[in-house]
Amino acid sequence: MVSRVIPVDPFDLVVFGGTGDLARRKILPALYQRFCAGQVPDDAQIIGAARSDLNDDGYRKLAADALVEFGKADDPGAADVHAFLARLRYVQLDARGDAGWPELRDLLPEDRVRAFYLSVAPSLFGDLAERIRGHGLATDQARVVVEKPFGHDLASARALNRSLADHFDESQIYRIDHYLGKETVQNLMAIRFGNLLFEPLWNSRYVDHIQITVAETVGVGGRGEYYDRAGAMRDMVQNHMMQLLCLIAMEPPARFQPDEVRDEKLKVIRALKDVGLQDVVRGQYAAFARDGADHPSYRDAVGDAASTTESYVAIKAEIENWRWIGTPFYLRTGKRLMARSSVIEVVFKDTPYSIFGADAGDNANVLSIRLQPNEGITLEVTIKEPGPGGMRLINVPLDMSFSTALGEREPVPDAYERLIMDVIRGNQTLFMRGDEVEAAWAWTDPIIDGWEDRGDRPEPYDGDSAGPTAAEKLIANDGRVWRAIRP
Ligand code: NAP
Repeated sequence: MVSRVIPVDPFDLVVFGGTGDLARRKILPALYQRFCAGQVPDDAQIIGAARSDLNDDGYRKLAADALVEFGKADDPGAADVHAFLARLRYVQLDARGDAGWPELRDLLPEDRVRAFYLSVAPSLFGDLAERIRGHGLATDQARVVVEKPFGHDLASARALNRSLADHFDESQIYRIDHYLGKETVQNLMAIRFGNLLFEPLWNSRYVDHIQITVAETVGVGGRGEYYDRAGAMRDMVQNHMMQLLCLIAMEPPARFQPDEVRDEKLKVIRALKDVGLQDVVRGQYAAFARDGADHPSYRDAVGDAASTTESYVAIKAEIENWRWIGTPFYLRTGKRLMARSSVIEVVFKDTPYSIFGADAGDNANVLSIRLQPNEGITLEVTIKEPGPGGMRLINVPLDMSFSTALGEREPVPDAYERLIMDVIRGNQTLFMRGDEVEAAWAWTDPIIDGWEDRGDRPEPYDGDSAGPTAAEKLIANDGRVWRAIRP
């Protein structure tokens, strides 16, 4: 198979927090994969920076272990691992002190792209940005990459934006939401704007409602401490689900260029109606048994018997613009649900009039776009139920799995591989702009504040279920039902 990898120009990537979990789990394995694909030029440098007392060799050892544990390397002694490790350097420094910074500056050639990945707690973003600028590292070709969570609410997101804007232009700031790096999420834009078929119907005249589901079977696992401070609203809705909503609802951008795409997404967020608390449901999973094993409740998992953090949230969202007024978007996400499934379901209206009579049956079309697992599209179309005895209608699926349709191909790169290379190329399309993040918080903050003011407690739901019963009522109040959660 012909490789379509386009090498990038030589670059330097400094990973602040280079010894941390994210660097070992995602960043170093992603860079190794791109190296193996031939995309990392010979004289590129990847420089880990943290407080730990390591030298280059110590860091290479840490990286080799990470590639085997979390990446696709089988043997830390393999030739390609060895060649990759030769590109790694390490600088010991503290984000809050000035030692080590001159050494870092000496490692960086002046006249090429340099990216600073802030893989550290957000409380260090300001210190790092200030020192990068103060030590003369912020050249015109410098870029800074920051991770989610970007803030805890609107005020903290604004403060983070300011601390970066003091030292970098917005065109140099790359806020990662790794969801946008997923192939299937990018495919949403191709499906919408690469096909004439859907656009004429893509509005409230023809679409009854849209459901966006991100269901997980896993619990909070080892992230309990972080998750209990965040909850599903901050962890999933404010960022990932908001991005899916934007990509499904936005107007066609004039061009596939970073600011054109981000302008259109921002308009969707700004057009969202404020959500009343009657249109939101929170849930928290209870203990349950699956496959003969007992699973702890959410509260046991986070070690707080009184926790009121939600592991499930369902929202009825409305977009107040010409295209969507009157078409609700029902969002739901949760942990420990009956199946792992991320899917967008566009439920079309019934035909204006049934020539077959009211008894003939249902005939609403549904377009399902599956993001994971089993990525693909299903269009439910109405046909005549076979057999004698009059005209009865049934819905049957026109089903396409992308893997079947595309046949055997090179494995799809991990989201981080794609996103890191986009940083090096200087393409911000798949990164969130500061105003986008703030607008998303401005929409979610009043919901979270409302819960806190009311002293709300999430409704318990059974693990392995579709979520709390209140979520069924939320959508039933509008005469609709949730689609089944299928793996
Ligand atoms: P972590 O495991 O705690 O790592 C933090 C890193 O920061 C370590 O390398 C640490 O190394 C370094 N560090 C801490 N204080 C420092 C200082 N004063 N100066 C310089 N370096 C310092 O955290 P993480 O899980 O990798 O997360 C990093 C960021 O990514 C966080 O913002 C997190 O929310 C975000 N994130 C993580 C994940 C994930 O899967 N882990 C996923 C999404 C987002 P030393 O102790 O050696 O200094």
